[in-house]
Amino acid sequence: MERFPRASAYLKCIEPTCRATYDAGEQLYACERCGGLLDVCYEWSPAALHDILATFDARRASYHPYDQSGVWRFRELFPFATSPSQVVTLGEGNTPLWDAPRSAHYAGLKRLTVKHQGLNPTGSFKDNGMTTGIAQARRLGARAVACASTGNTSASLAAYAARAGMHGIVFIPGGRIAYGKLAQSLDYGAVTLQIEGNFDDAMRLVRDLARTTPLYLLNSVNPFRLEGQKTIAFELLQQRRWQVPDRVVVPGGNLGNVSALGKGFKELHDLGLIPRLPKLTVVQAEGAAPLVRWYAAHRVGNLLPVNRPKTLATAIQIGNPVSWLKAVRALDWTDGICTTVSEQEIADAKAIIGRDGIGCEPASAATVAGLRRLVSEGLVHPEEDVVAILTGSALKDPDFTVQYHTGQLFTDAERETHLAYAEGHLMSTFANAPRQVPGKPDVLRQIILDLLAEPSCPTA
Ligand SMILES: *Cc1c(COP(=O)(O)O)cnc(C)c1O
Repeated sequence: MERFPRASAYLKCIEPTCRATYDAGEQLYACERCGGLLDVCYEWSPAALHDILATFDARRASYHPYDQSGVWRFRELFPFATSPSQVVTLGEGNTPLWDAPRSAHYAGLKRLTVKHQGLNPTGSFKDNGMTTGIAQARRLGARAVACASTGNTSASLAAYAARAGMHGIVFIPGGRIAYGKLAQSLDYGAVTLQIEGNFDDAMRLVRDLARTTPLYLLNSVNPFRLEGQKTIAFELLQQRRWQVPDRVVVPGGNLGNVSALGKGFKELHDLGLIPRLPKLTVVQAEGAAPLVRWYAAHRVGNLLPVNRPKTLATAIQIGNPVSWLKAVRALDWTDGICTTVSEQEIADAKAIIGRDGIGCEPASAATVAGLRRLVSEGLVHPEEDVVAILTGSALKDPDFTVQYHTGQLFTDAERETHLAYAEGHLMSTFANAPRQVPGKPDVLRQIILDLLAEPSCPTA
């Protein structure tokens, strides 16, 4: 294989007082000595990294699948695979970076760009991490891979397990799951186990099972997932000709993504490939904001889990985020901050992003909602150069969108039983409901003429 880097990886505990190291071929999800989270670390070879940014740029014109992948294109920066045969790629990454002028205006920024990870093969950034997680699963000879998931990790795992010829087993919470996500894991052939309880309960169960059965765990507690997700940082820099933005904003659930971005930017900086770090900014939903609460409590002691996390943005409905210590580290490295947003703010921001011609799922819209709040509080300057990461596709959760635009979005609703009960009616501030009209040419002609008499570009 052309330029497939030689493996030089090892695992290292992130606890400053421990720092135990392990062989990268060991199947570990936590430090055996202290229980801490693990990082994949490398002995970087200066020769392999010579002129590496130019190599990455040249690969954008390549026909080779590894070069075309928006993850494996950057493989010298995560050299852990021991053979090219371990790579299973669906051409993940390669997601667009777009100007979002209406969203910028709404947030109070002069300019805003969004990187839409929802344009990945299964519709979320989880694919960036799944391709590397599956590579490590192959390296270890795993036959079955598993995860707990609010939906997107299971969709991604199901697809990559199918491509790799492995059993995929996904544990999803009881109750509400976005149908787009459930549909994917069913279609891709994963064994789909809907358990009683929420995501945090499912996570605990699958972590135990990974200890007592040969399942290989592919949640973001698995550090090899984060190695793929850190390439989101590389790709967004490459799209900006390696110019570092002032700030990168992400929604926070299990906090794997902000951890991965932090590691990616930090490694590039440590290697002398970029001159500074962007400030990482995490936005959580008010009803599922354990990280923000920990900061508000002056960072004392351990993070207190939120027992019944609640938000319609199901991808971030997580009360006990596994990667919180890595997230704190990422915010410390980059002088980052975190904030919360309400359900109403998420719903409205999503509609505004839509007016930019960009569809994202509710969790992704927390970024623009959070920016709006931070600008109004004076914590983000209106002239900052900001990139918001839109984490998932609008098509994952069309129910949310239709209910918003038709005035039927409730923070608490039993949907399956046709609103047998519904509470917390959200306002449809930017509603665009379908209109019932007769199929009569005269009536329709008048509707069109009335429409064209209005100013042509309604601004948000
Ligand atoms: C997984 C996910 C998140 C949350 O990311 P974490 O790494 O768990 O913090 C946010 N949005 C979407 C669409 C996701 O799929």
